[in-house]
Amino acid sequence: MPALIRRVEWGELRIFYINAMDAPAHLNDIDRLKHENSELRARLADLETIIMRMPVPIAISEDPESNRIEVNPAFAALLGIDTDQNASLTSESAAEMPFHVYRNGKKVEGSEMPQQRAYRAGHEIHDELEIVRDDGVHYFIYGSAKPLFDEEGRVRRTFSAFVDVTERKRAEKALEESMQALRNANDELQQFAYAASHDLQEPLRSIGSYAQLLQRRYAGDAEASEYAGFMVDGVARMNTLIHDLLIYSRVGSGTLRRREVNLGNALQWSLLNLERSLQEHKATVTYDALPELIVDEGQMCQLFQNLIGNSLKYRGELAPLVHVSAEEDENEWILTVRDNGIGVDPKFHQHIFGVFKRLHGREVPGTGMGLAICRRIVESHGGRIWVESDGTHGSAFRFALPK
Ligand code: ADP
Repeated sequence: MPALIRRVEWGELRIFYINAMDAPAHLNDIDRLKHENSELRARLADLETIIMRMPVPIAISEDPESNRIEVNPAFAALLGIDTDQNASLTSESAAEMPFHVYRNGKKVEGSEMPQQRAYRAGHEIHDELEIVRDDGVHYFIYGSAKPLFDEEGRVRRTFSAFVDVTERKRAEKALEESMQALRNANDELQQFAYAASHDLQEPLRSIGSYAQLLQRRYAGDAEASEYAGFMVDGVARMNTLIHDLLIYSRVGSGTLRRREVNLGNALQWSLLNLERSLQEHKATVTYDALPELIVDEGQMCQLFQNLIGNSLKYRGELAPLVHVSAEEDENEWILTVRDNGIGVDPKFHQHIFGVFKRLHGREVPGTGMGLAICRRIVESHGGRIWVESDGTHGSAFRFALPK
């Protein structure tokens, strides 16, 4: 009988072959046994052929502690050994093995190999290992070692099968490297945007001051003072742009100062900041009980301020009515800022969250950064933001934050 198969547990085999061995009814007991015996031999030979030809690395130990392990050709080729060589790392010849095994970058001793662990644990052990051969070739394999028991429930040997996951690991590593490169580039860009917008403020301030001086000096000259006026307006506009750009890059670059925050408090702070504008437009803001979440309070306040500020800016004919509500599902809280303003045409629902994207001209002041800032705040908290509106009957700006 082929060597490899002889060592496989009979009990295990019977699970596969018991039904196939039913002998014809006319045979006597001895013939029946003979028949079963030859059936079994034929099937064991089939099984050995299958195991030996399988492109999957397979190993079977001869003893419970796996001091002697036999491997099929697929495994032998992977390890760089012969099929008749003992592959156990707890064998006496383990030191001469032409390969080493690592788990998460750390060398694995023979006693920590999956077969030995499966024997000690008495159950199947899943493992991912890196095989590094002396000739420089290396593989990642994933699989399991399963103890095979005798009738008294003692481990007799172990059976293990693996798959070569080298390609997957390489792809994962390449992906992680490009993600890291992207994160670095993003950080640099953030710092650049922050530094640039910060440094632009200083020269802009002096342009603004001199433009105002000129305006005063040439107050009598209509043309000169008109030009100086354009300069002053331009400087003011650029100031707002830089201010918003600074907020945007600050929101994305700094670490979040998270703590348990009652969103109702953050909302009230934002209403205080908007007080003048709320009065001016005779606006009414109502709100339900809002949840407590682990968030950055300053950023939540900014978020409400931008959304409610927009409800005032993009109001309709009637006095602005804004309602803030919250609902929860299993994983997140969804907050809604609903207004009775002019609404947002569905074809612009995505567009308006982009940087410097706006649907209005100079008639409504703004830089197109407000919603981009909102999106950044929400996303840096692991959430998402969107708008629901038919473009005529107000809008509902909604954002989901994880619990
Ligand atoms: P800004 O208000 O400076 O233009 P935002 O990023 O805050 O920039 O908004 C982008 C665009 O989205 C606005 O120009 C406006 O057209 C639209 N918008 C934002 N909020 C509302 C709202 N509550 N109702 C109607 N339109 C809105």
